[in-house]
Amino acid sequence: MKKYLFPILLLSLLWTACSQPAEHTENGTSKSVQKAEYAIVIHGGAGTIKRENMSSEKEEAYRTALNKALDIGEGILKNGGTALEAVEKTIMSMEDSPLFNAGKGAVFTHEGRNELDASIMHGADRNAGAVGGITIVRNPIQAAIAVMEQSPHVMLTGKGAEEFALEQELDTVSNDYFYTERRWESLQKILERENQETGYMEEYPDYKFGTVGCVALDKNGNIVAGTSTGGMTNKRYNRIGDSPIIGAGTYADNATCGVSCTGHGEFFIRWAVAYDVSAIMAYKEVGVKKAADMVVNEKLVDVGGSGGLIALDKYGNVAMPFNTEGMYRGYAKPNERVVQIYKDEQ
Ligand code: ASP
Repeated sequence: MKKYLFPILLLSLLWTACSQPAEHTENGTSKSVQKAEYAIVIHGGAGTIKRENMSSEKEEAYRTALNKALDIGEGILKNGGTALEAVEKTIMSMEDSPLFNAGKGAVFTHEGRNELDASIMHGADRNAGAVGGITIVRNPIQAAIAVMEQSPHVMLTGKGAEEFALEQELDTVSNDYFYTERRWESLQKILERENQETGYMEEYPDYKFGTVGCVALDKNGNIVAGTSTGGMTNKRYNRIGDSPIIGAGTYADNATCGVSCTGHGEFFIRWAVAYDVSAIMAYKEVGVKKAADMVVNEKLVDVGGSGGLIALDKYGNVAMPFNTEGMYRGYAKPNERVVQIYKDEQ
């Protein structure tokens, strides 16, 4: 019997060595990396977020909301729940918070309404769903998930998307539900300053993008990414940004990473930002941090596209780059929790 033991031992040693994840690490070097059992990363928008403009109460409120969202998502993943459920419930908690520009607390259109966009993508099969310009669904991320799971389509907009949401018996509200005084005042300020001839802002000097996003990796190795937003204050003509556009605001592929973006949507669409992070990882064979940094701090900076993103790879490596003053952000992995707002916390 004993003579068989040696080859078996050798084979099992070889098998162990080969099954270590030995692809590129987060900064692009090639050595073996540890895989986190699960991981979740969130953002609550990027923009002109400076310490000197923030009261301690407001800062505390944001940190509490980010921690609460992470608690929800981490609780699901820790107990073996799916990345899809973690992303759904985490984003719902941020949509329900008036602090973020998604769901309750969304920004106003030029006409003084709230039009909401959201998207979801599953990294296992690249199934995806998105809604644009909806006005009555309490949690737009649920409408995006319904499009992914219950329809043959990827993206539904406006009245049709709402009809579909009603058919799916999603929770609906009147458009007033999304109202917050703070966002209403932001619209009034912008309306006073906008170019009277074109009706557009020439630029967005103090813009705070408050979109929310979440990427999760579950115990089965599935990566799911989702994004939800009210878009940009003073948007008109049913403008839709990057957030509900697969490849621009959201992307997920189990082989590379999941990404959710926040920022000046027109740039994120034109630079296919979320997909670009995944493509750079695949084609250049670099890690998630390096790929995300190239897109946000090189490509977007070169063209004046402000914002940031969160990304998570199959090992649980997290990237949270932004080229603005700050970004509400955080992540959780087993025995690790980070919640940050300002640039100097990086
Ligand atoms: N990216 C969003 C949009 O352009 C805005 C944001 O991130 O806050 O609609």
